[in-house]
Amino acid sequence: MRGACDVVIVGGGVAGLWSAVELGRGGVGFGVVLVEAGELGGAQTIASQGIIHGGIKYALGESVGDASRVIAGMPARWRASLRGEVAPDLRGVRVLSESQVLWTRPGIASRVAGVAASAVIRTEVKRLGREDVAGALAGAPRGRWGGGGIDVYRVDEQVLEPRSLVAALAARAREARVRLVRGEMVEVEQGGTSGARVRMTVRGAMMEIEASAVVLAAGAGNEALVAGAWRESTAAAQLRPLHMVMARAARGEAELPEVWGHCIGSSSLPLLTISSQRGGDGRVVWYMGGALAEEGVARSEAEQRKAALAAIRACLPWLRLERLELATLRIDRAEARTGDGRRPEGPVVVRVGNVIAAWPTKLAFAPVVADRVMEEVRAIVGAGGGRGGAASGVGVSLPADLPEPEVAPLPWDREGVEWSGA
Ligand SMILES: Cc1cc2nc3c(=O)[nH]c(=O)nc-3n(C[C@H](O)[C@H](O)[C@H](O)COP(=O)(O)OP(=O)(O)OC[C@H]3O[C@@H](n4cnc5c(N)ncnc54)[C@H](O)[C@@H]3O)c2cc1C
Repeated sequence: MRGACDVVIVGGGVAGLWSAVELGRGGVGFGVVLVEAGELGGAQTIASQGIIHGGIKYALGESVGDASRVIAGMPARWRASLRGEVAPDLRGVRVLSESQVLWTRPGIASRVAGVAASAVIRTEVKRLGREDVAGALAGAPRGRWGGGGIDVYRVDEQVLEPRSLVAALAARAREARVRLVRGEMVEVEQGGTSGARVRMTVRGAMMEIEASAVVLAAGAGNEALVAGAWRESTAAAQLRPLHMVMARAARGEAELPEVWGHCIGSSSLPLLTISSQRGGDGRVVWYMGGALAEEGVARSEAEQRKAALAAIRACLPWLRLERLELATLRIDRAEARTGDGRRPEGPVVVRVGNVIAAWPTKLAFAPVVADRVMEEVRAIVGAGGGRGGAASGVGVSLPADLPEPEVAPLPWDREGVEWSGA
């Protein structure tokens, strides 16, 4: 099988989908093919906690650099799309919460107040009184508030439901006449002035597509593809593993109270980050990350479940949670590797010849990645490289009956999740 198009995008996570919409939509009109090996959003995007960071988490850490300034603009950028004011139109996306909370552990002094006053934070951070607190934090005992007790802050950073985000972006991509194909990219070959050639398997058969430009937005798959396309001997990518935990009340027990936010300890990393959603069976699920997930990588599933219970007791000691069901999820964050080997703070988009590789680093940075991908594609086409982009009139030429990828289920709704105590 053979085909041709202006741009091939590898990977249907937030980076690939957002870039596809921008490249394909009216006024730009490149002929785009997006190739996804599994399900749309299926790796990091669907497993993310959906927080559109505006920088508070960065500011709690030690480094307040350029990335903090870029991320400070992200909540407003996303809100404009969520209201349908700018493309892509994300009005169909479920906003789980308009804000999140930061709360301290009983007796731990808060660094949040100083951070909130920091010049890099543009999102509003407001200290909440007892009457303003709802959900899981509402029941904190009276005597513990104020002074050396618990402080609660509201941060105007939205939390989105990732599956509805992926579905909305896929819908916009189809409207922009992007061809979504279920297939696995196996090789990308630079073709000099004639563009690039990609080889992929579709339903077990090999298929070859010629394109002006190739965008590698394959998350954990980028490392192997980049090494082949760029003939790089030095590692351009890295994986940072996490061991996330999901919790829900056993049947017959009261629902878990909803909460979106970070429990702050004395280190720069939140002790516990919780995002709440309803599972397919209607029960509230707490999806938990933060230090629990980073430090839990070396723990077995059983040890990690115990550590999660200990973290819940330390951060929310006033809650009486009977009969919790717990499950864990191991997932890697896929990021670019910086020159000094440290993890990047912001998005990374790099081009060698006609092949562009993109790592958003955070869901929140997807619009920036799409803008930079657009600049690089225009640079290739403008320089007369490849097949000439939209001006060539190549559009998309592919067989009509190729399989399309579905949107992935949320982690707790996947088949085979093992809940303890269920
Ligand atoms: C547990 C967790 C929680 C997070 N929470 C947040 C958060 O709250 N806020 C935030 O801003 N960021 C968060 N992040 C980071 C964010 O999720 C990622 O930065 C972002 O989703 C990466 O998107 P992506 O499109 O690059 O990659 P992915 O979503 O991983 O997509 C890559 C896609 O490429 C496909 N693929 C791979 N290889 C191939 C191949 N050879 N051929 C075809 N397709 C291929 C995969 O199947 C996958 O669907 C979180 C990350 C994790 C892991």
